[in-house]
Amino acid sequence: MSTREEALAAVSCLLKYIEGDATREGLERTPERVVDSFAEIYAGYDQDPSEMLSATFNSEGYDGIVLLKDIEFHSTCEHHLQPFSGRAHVAYIPVDRIVGISKLARLVDMHAQRLQNQERITKNIADDLTTHLNPLGAAVIIEASHGCMRCRGVRKQNAIMTTSAMRGAFFEKSEARAELMQLIKS
Ligand code: ZN
Repeated sequence: MSTREEALAAVSCLLKYIEGDATREGLERTPERVVDSFAEIYAGYDQDPSEMLSATFNSEGYDGIVLLKDIEFHSTCEHHLQPFSGRAHVAYIPVDRIVGISKLARLVDMHAQRLQNQERITKNIADDLTTHLNPLGAAVIIEASHGCMRCRGVRKQNAIMTTSAMRGAFFEKSEARAELMQLIKS
């Protein structure tokens, strides 16, 4: 674990690597700004999914799909430290407990605000829902565009990567999956 001072020195070092002399006014406080921004960008490390999904309510017999779609998120690609962002669609079918809907958005943020790849975010959200809500099914679909591909490498501006994780009824029953897709499209 590095200290804040070491992190500041590391950013200064990178600035010098990029520009040589990094003493001009615009760069003077850049290390502080970059390191301060980490508290927000990487806030997901301090959060615990079991706590987040612990406050549940009686579903009162509701046994249909609960879907929160178009959850915008921003994350950081662990391979290039470039941002990637997009939308997540998160769904589950409750057995007898439902969770506050904002918790689904928080769960997406928690996994996004770490060094990540899109596949892992998708899988981890589905696994957390399965573990902590014990639903009949859980599904996560993420569509994102990756900075590391837009600004460098193959330079594709409009390519969208889609990943999905299907658990329980969404994995086993094509009807449940078809209904989910319909709800996401509508
Ligand atoms: Zn990347």
